[in-house]
Amino acid sequence: MLGSILSACNTVENTSKEDKFEFLVERFAEFRILKYQVPGFDELSLNQKKLIYYLSQAALCGRDIIYDQNGKYNLMVRHSLENIYQTYTGNKENEEYKAFVVYLKKVWFSNGIHHHYGMDKFVPGFTPAYMDGLIANSDKNGFPLMGGQNLDAFKELLHKVIFDKDYMAKRVNLDPSKDLVASSACNFYLGVDQHEAENFYASMKDTDDTTPISHGLNSRLVKENGILKEEVYKLGGLYGEAIEKIIFWIEKALPYAETEHQQQELNKLIAYYKTGDLETWDEYNVLWVTDTVPLVDYVNGFIEVYGDPLGMKATWESIVNFKNMEATRRTKLISENAQWFEDNSPVAPVFKKKKVKGVTGKVITVAQLAGDCYPATPIGINLPNANWIRKEHGSKSVTIENITYAYDQVMLESGFLDEFAYNEDEKELIKKYGSVTSNLHTDLHEILGHGSGQLLPGVSDDALKNYHSTLEETRADLFALYYIYDQKLVDLGVLPEVDAAK
Ligand SMILES: [Zn+2]
Repeated sequence: MLGSILSACNTVENTSKEDKFEFLVERFAEFRILKYQVPGFDELSLNQKKLIYYLSQAALCGRDIIYDQNGKYNLMVRHSLENIYQTYTGNKENEEYKAFVVYLKKVWFSNGIHHHYGMDKFVPGFTPAYMDGLIANSDKNGFPLMGGQNLDAFKELLHKVIFDKDYMAKRVNLDPSKDLVASSACNFYLGVDQHEAENFYASMKDTDDTTPISHGLNSRLVKENGILKEEVYKLGGLYGEAIEKIIFWIEKALPYAETEHQQQELNKLIAYYKTGDLETWDEYNVLWVTDTVPLVDYVNGFIEVYGDPLGMKATWESIVNFKNMEATRRTKLISENAQWFEDNSPVAPVFKKKKVKGVTGKVITVAQLAGDCYPATPIGINLPNANWIRKEHGSKSVTIENITYAYDQVMLESGFLDEFAYNEDEKELIKKYGSVTSNLHTDLHEILGHGSGQLLPGVSDDALKNYHSTLEETRADLFALYYIYDQKLVDLGVLPEVDAAK
């Protein structure tokens, strides 16, 4: 995966403009900010555009949720830095101020004070004393002081959160020699250690249940007067203010749903946000995954569990998109042949699915990204996550081609090839087939990789705990790499020639 990511969004009307489109907007530290295009938007109907608009508004309302989930002081830090950025009256030309701006951009980019992949806390390129000077010359009323807190106490806390490298050192710690919960800065557990959290959820588990809900998915676990309880994300609950706005915009979207099925599904999502009920969430997911007719689709909810060291609690995210018809032909061919890939995979027969069900591969164009999907963006998604729903109703798997296209365009002009390609032949191959094969790699990973294989009876989804996400991604990627060089892909007409995969 490339270490750079994107932002913004633009429609292109004709090729002459496309020629001039600048994908690379900015660089700072190790980050690159890319712009992406939304080809095909103009051809959508007015109702489809309205649906995208309202779902996009719903997406934007969750921005602060992800900051808070990533760490309890992230919003305080962001508001403080933004206040300085907007109101500081001192010198903005010196190196320390530039280092301050870079730090702010890193916080924006990672939705918090930790690196979005590496999980380590950012080290600012300026001193605590310099920070005090910034605060002294900015609007005092703009800082988010907590009730009863004076400016000195506020500064002390800010120093600790930003400069103390041992405090909240990692967002998600997966080193099992430490208490995974206590050593992770993410905000899913409060006053609770790993042992207590694991016991709390182990007691809820019913191994005979064939359609188990995802316990703990949408809540923070806290200890109050010695008693553990969940603070549920819902209307009137934790993140209730943001959720109220999300509901408001989804309601606006309802009249523009493309099918009755899609409308039912949006109503179910609203019901879930109102109650926080996880059975309703599963019912919604069944509706969502079986909804394949509309051109416009979306993801909206507390979904991925990578941000929780115990792999149970989900971060909020949203994507609004529409189908790329041309490229969907390619993925349809791959999904239609899913059983062939499953049967011929090199794993032991007991781990193979007898019947690979409902793997729908499609290629989408995203129009809006938010929450945990932004600014660092996935290039493919495969949902829902609940294994029993995947087994009984299938999963939706998508490749986000307008994002991968932006990556490829920037890569071609970055000097990357001159530096890393072995020789001229390899450069030519990459220029000719780079985009095709990297899309195909993502397709194989998402459509076949994650959907392949089965657990032995009695083994639960989260048995691997802190190793789950890493191993699951590796598994899906190995599946893709195993087949990328296969004649079958040429026979299907999705790979121009076997050598393209070189
Ligand atoms: Zn994956």
